[in-house]
Amino acid sequence: MLAIDGCHVATVDATGTEHPGGYVVISGDRIEAVGAGPLPDRYADADRVDGAGLLATPGLVNSHHHLYQWITRGYATDDSLFGWLTALYPVWAGLDAELVHAAAAANLGWMALTGCSTSTDHHYVFPAGRGDLLAAEIVAAREIGLRFHPGRGSMNLGQSAGGLPPDSVVEEHDDILAATQDAIDRWHDPSFGSMTRIAVAPCSPFSVTADLMRDSAELARRAGVRMHTHLAETLDEEQFCLQTYGRTPAQYVEDLGWLGPDVWLAHCVHLSDEAVQRLAASGTGVAHCPTSNGRLGSGIARVRDLLAAGAPVGLGVDGSASNESGAMIDEPHQALLAARLRNGPLSLTVRQALELATMGGARCLGRAGEIGSLEPGKLADIALWQVSDLAGAGIADPVAALVLGAPALERLFVGGQPVVTAGQLVTADAGALAAASARASARIAERARAGA
Ligand code: ZN
Repeated sequence: MLAIDGCHVATVDATGTEHPGGYVVISGDRIEAVGAGPLPDRYADADRVDGAGLLATPGLVNSHHHLYQWITRGYATDDSLFGWLTALYPVWAGLDAELVHAAAAANLGWMALTGCSTSTDHHYVFPAGRGDLLAAEIVAAREIGLRFHPGRGSMNLGQSAGGLPPDSVVEEHDDILAATQDAIDRWHDPSFGSMTRIAVAPCSPFSVTADLMRDSAELARRAGVRMHTHLAETLDEEQFCLQTYGRTPAQYVEDLGWLGPDVWLAHCVHLSDEAVQRLAASGTGVAHCPTSNGRLGSGIARVRDLLAAGAPVGLGVDGSASNESGAMIDEPHQALLAARLRNGPLSLTVRQALELATMGGARCLGRAGEIGSLEPGKLADIALWQVSDLAGAGIADPVAALVLGAPALERLFVGGQPVVTAGQLVTADAGALAAASARASARIAERARAGA
């Protein structure tokens, strides 16, 4: 048993309970107890972590990501989504399993160091004959020790058929469905405390056919796994959907069976009032990615309206090629700024921003009963933040120091296991991850120059 004692505890439970000078007790992979101090005598024999000056929160949940993009950061820095994608697709055509492993390990190491205990991934580029890319990232997640929800992504609408990606990076419909079923059979663990769950994740309306969207939904529901895709990210996408399908992106996916409590959608920047209501009424989750949306100038999602309508909203760093900092703790800060810039000063509180980054993500992933808040019986996924150092000292409210300030992570536990201790990754050598990802970045750039 381990007791974290004397810290400010922000539980993010249903009533937003906080305990200044509180404690969290870990037993095995679960939270045994949470409360206001002092630590009860019955835990006197537990190992102690001195929480003085620290803030305990649930581990952050990253609800949208593309890990492989870690090795293609800094490309097309001044372009919109479609221009950026068009520049990067040929680079991504050079991916192989070894490069994906290097990118994923480095990226997940950085996710851990910025407070993330559970990450999704949306991998949709599978060049033929380049090894098992999905396995490569799952192995990396196990090495780093994060809870992982990889989506088996896909693209099958190449340029020759009217899509955006070049034909060299798309796959065939039947091959995609077979590979997706295989990924579920091989990796998906539905049990409480699971470290790996697979989602079915065709990429976007402009890179996937309607048939594949429909068949992917059927496959996911047959297998009992969740569904994820990009939606309504840019006005270019809306234009594409209106021209190609005669419907907005939200109408298009609804007609294909892609709304429901087992679906979460990335971005949802450009939604009509009706679409906001349709998403909320169906229980469809939204992964809000404010930094990426700003980097690509896509717009600001209607978070205030989605929350008011009752939709689950989580936060995502999105792929690192459109969010070079890739820091999970930046996202609640950016979400708060973006919401207030769009809808005014009362549109998102600091505590709502923390809730989006924790319970909001847990709801998107269908894991609200396991993660996302610090409550007895839930998994011991806990972040401890330094809020009394040079950056945070003097900010009386620790949650304000976390969301508005520049906090450093002190410790991260995932299922009770230490992943970060004293601000350092303990499951891998951060220097070695950086060196391997730099080599991988050079290798994929070289392949792109050679046109391979
Ligand atoms: Zn994305």
